[in-house]
Amino acid sequence: MYCDPLSSERYNMNRFSLNGKKALVTGANTGIGQAIAIALAAAGAHVVCAGRRSCGETVDQITKAGGTAEDLKLDFADPMAAKQVFPGAGFDVLINNAGIIRRDDAVDFGEDDWDAVMDVNAKALFFTCQAFAREVMAQNRSGKIVNIASLLSFQGGIRVPSYTASKHAVSGLTKLLANEWAAKGVNVNAIAPGYISTNNTEALRNDADRNKAILDRIPAGRWGEAQDIADTAVFLAAPASDYIHGAILNVDGGWLAR
Ligand code: NAP
Repeated sequence: MYCDPLSSERYNMNRFSLNGKKALVTGANTGIGQAIAIALAAAGAHVVCAGRRSCGETVDQITKAGGTAEDLKLDFADPMAAKQVFPGAGFDVLINNAGIIRRDDAVDFGEDDWDAVMDVNAKALFFTCQAFAREVMAQNRSGKIVNIASLLSFQGGIRVPSYTASKHAVSGLTKLLANEWAAKGVNVNAIAPGYISTNNTEALRNDADRNKAILDRIPAGRWGEAQDIADTAVFLAAPASDYIHGAILNVDGGWLAR
């Protein structure tokens, strides 16, 4: 909703608040997804924390801090798993965070590692967006989608062919969906995290040579924290970002600027 910057309403409304909103975060049991779930709840949202394992720890952290949240089992081994989640449930925000990576030389890379990564990172993401948007549009409401992309939505990487293909798909789909849905009340944007300190990247941080090479190339001179991504997700879920459609926001300490 447009808000005249000079109106008194502007002073009475926190455009960064998620009060009264209901959000779903996939892969919310750990890492970036957990931080996003906690940050959305701190901004006022009721957060449904979805994962193939229990997100009980995330729900506990949110409720102990005074927020509200619930746990939902959602396993993207079936990429259509979210189909039944949205009808009648009143969601305003969808954060597609769940993702996996498989590493091998391109000449040896196997079909199983291709399919597993493409299913979770690209196919499940698309059909979850579709299920969310169908419901929002059917109810004539507005909604916000935030997809978690990667530096490998822009760069090639090495030994991660299905991950790179899937994350390029995330950035392409984010733009396509924005083109189709911006006029229908659904914002679709993505965040491209740089090197973020999570389980996913523990091996890199433990390899002294790789760790030094990475840090030397990051203008900010430090690894990102999950909180850096979470704060950006709150912005993209809130009214403050209502005119942002199809953007891929780099949160990478300047990596891609280099
Ligand atoms: P992480 O700690 O490995 O978390 C990944 C999340 O996805 C976990 O909750 C995981 O659940 C969930 N997941 C995996 N397969 C699933 C499935 N079949 N169904 C449902 N959930 C599933 O990784 P992270 O670093 O927080 O990554 C989160 C997102 O950020 C991913 O999309 C990743 O590609 C992206 N990213 C991360 C970095 C980084 O530097 N860390 C950089 C760029 C992009 P389990 O715990 O059960 O496996």
